Amino acid sequence: MTSKYEVVIGLEVHVQMTTNTKIFCGCSTEFGQEPNSQTCPVCLGLPGALPVLNRKAVEFSIKTGLATNCAIAPRSIFARKNYFYPDLPKGYQISQFELPICEHGRLDIETEQGGHKTIGITRIHMEEDAGKLLHGDTPETADTSLVDLNRACTPLMEIVSEPDMRSSDEAIAYLKKLHQIVVYLGVCDGNMEEGNFRCDANVSIRPWGQKEFGTRAELKNINSFRFIKQAIEYEIERQAEVIEDGGRVIQETRLFDSANGTTRSMRGKEEAHDYRYFPDPDLLPLVVDSEWVERCRQELPELPEAKLERFIGDYDLPRYDAEVLTADRALADYFDQCAKLHRDGKACSNWVMGEVTRALNESGIAISESPVTPKMLAAMLGRIKDNTISGKIAKTVFDEMWKSGKEADSIIEEKGLKQVTDTGAIEKIVDEVIAANPNQAEEYRGGKEKMLGFFVGQVMKASKGKANPGMVNELLKQKLKA
Ligand code: ADP
Ligand code: MG
Ligand code: ZN
Repeated sequence: MTSKYEVVIGLEVHVQMTTNTKIFCGCSTEFGQEPNSQTCPVCLGLPGALPVLNRKAVEFSIKTGLATNCAIAPRSIFARKNYFYPDLPKGYQISQFELPICEHGRLDIETEQGGHKTIGITRIHMEEDAGKLLHGDTPETADTSLVDLNRACTPLMEIVSEPDMRSSDEAIAYLKKLHQIVVYLGVCDGNMEEGNFRCDANVSIRPWGQKEFGTRAELKNINSFRFIKQAIEYEIERQAEVIEDGGRVIQETRLFDSANGTTRSMRGKEEAHDYRYFPDPDLLPLVVDSEWVERCRQELPELPEAKLERFIGDYDLPRYDAEVLTADRALADYFDQCAKLHRDGKACSNWVMGEVTRALNESGIAISESPVTPKMLAAMLGRIKDNTISGKIAKTVFDEMWKSGKEADSIIEEKGLKQVTDTGAIEKIVDEVIAANPNQAEEYRGGKEKMLGFFVGQVMKASKGKANPGMVNELLKQKLKA
């Protein structure tokens, strides 16, 4: 049924910035502290307290604008967005309305079909976050709501896209790209569960070929990529059903319910707030000259796309590997450091994407906490390359490095894991294994070539994995022929 309609999606993303202090006061933004311990007259909204703009928040916004190809406004304005809610002590939120700091940007995404598509970014504006309400968290507060204003006045960027996406997959591709960029820039932690990166999805459908957009619903309360996809897909089906049943989609805000993957109406257009925006008289217009923009540009780190191309070019990596590695900046940096030392890029990427990732998942830790540093891994890979150990034994060495934090060389030494490359020693084992398995040797000579694998296995086992596999193969072939 949905194939009758074209889907139109525009996203509004709220990005919590990683500044140490709040956007209009000096209070700390640290997460998880004693409620209301990080407050002052400004973020409590006490009368007469005056806001002072956080320079860092401006620079983070400029950098995000530059990384998403926006024009940076030489002059932007803060406005009051008026509404009442208990987590908003002033009765208004300071935001930017008419003149935001960034406009007219774009991001390129890869489509399912393997092509590229440009998604327009309408604007990026700065604003302050609200506090948090705690509803009856303890028995004593069962019928009460408590207000925690530690989060009030935390700096946010709202990044608004054009309605350019045409499927849930495109929406996810755009979001992932944006998420990757803000995390690379270091302007956001990107933790969606903690609400560092939150998305509202605007969804509408229209019959194919129709020029005008359909009426949109705005979906809120979605805190993971998977849920965003689910919410959009549910909403597309729902709207198609409404139209098929002869109804009309109404403009409304809907809440996503992750328990059953559905959306339900929160408020319609009639109940929509009238925010009565007006310029905040307590804040001067923000003036950003071109020198300031240039300084921010100088400070931009290498962005994901550039890093990806460099990995392919410098380390000769397959595009797939480069994509997996650059998906996460910390993972990319780990690989980069390793590959700078051990120049075989593909070997590094195999280990980082394989054993390192597996061990991280098993221990439930972040790559920044890896007990095996890139330098340690590179040193171990060097021992495979110079034939000190086999690739198989290397896994044992790696696990031991992970557990003990010791260097590969000392583990190889202590545990006697050096590869046996002494022909005489391997020959002796080969002879013994052939002598012990006369029937299998006969079968091999009779043409059953697969038996070679059996012999290799036996010899490797007898050598406790330490015999050089290439040499074992060669010697077995020679000796079995005789
Ligand atoms: P509001 O502030 O009321 O949410 P905006 O004009 O800022 O309204 O638009 C919010 C988002 O909705 C933007 O990302 C925009 O691309 C998207 N949008 C606008 N119209 C449509 C539509 N018909 N279908 C889907 N998305 C839309
Ligand atoms: Mg909106
Ligand atoms: Zn404060």
